[in-house]
Amino acid sequence: MAELIDHPCVQHKLAIIRDEDTGHKRFRELATEITKFICYEALKNIRTKEVTVQTPVAEARCRKIDTDLVVVPILRAGVGMLEGILELVPTARVGFVGLYRDEETKEPVSYYERFPPQIEGGTCIIIDPMLATGGSTVAAIDTLKQSGAESIVVICIVTCPEGIALVEAAHPDVRIYAAAIDDRLDDRKYIVPGLGDAGDRLFGTSH
Ligand code: URA
Repeated sequence: MAELIDHPCVQHKLAIIRDEDTGHKRFRELATEITKFICYEALKNIRTKEVTVQTPVAEARCRKIDTDLVVVPILRAGVGMLEGILELVPTARVGFVGLYRDEETKEPVSYYERFPPQIEGGTCIIIDPMLATGGSTVAAIDTLKQSGAESIVVICIVTCPEGIALVEAAHPDVRIYAAAIDDRLDDRKYIVPGLGDAGDRLFGTSH
């Protein structure tokens, strides 16, 4: 299932990050800002425990997060969302998944995986700015589940019906949070209207 974060503050920033005239410095800043808002929403039902805190005046009954959080950027563009998550949950641990597309099968193949042990029993947040075909996301979820993860959410900036459908079919238990659900994919598998190649725009590698 996909949840659209339709808040005006997010949508305003989305309009700027989509703009082809937005340079890589501002693009990176916006990716961080947007991710922080989406993550805030994505964690709204996270497990908490009651704690008692002594204020200077009296005891206060409070709630604290009661699960290990593990953020997993899909290399390379997912790294551009990491700062936003860590600003919100600075104690989160970080794992990585690197995937490339096999030229013959067209399927994503994992070339790098490194996860903290807390993925077992914790909450994993996969981050990738563009959930396009969904192939990389499904492969990342497969890998995490094979490594023991049970609770997984996906945070992206822009997605599309094709990507959501693939993830839902393979992993109906995984919820997707996005700032935009765009129209479709084009022949190159870019999201339309999207924002172009997120990795290139984040890291200034476009020509
Ligand atoms: N990856 C991107 O960076 N952009 C798209 O539109 C699709 C996949």
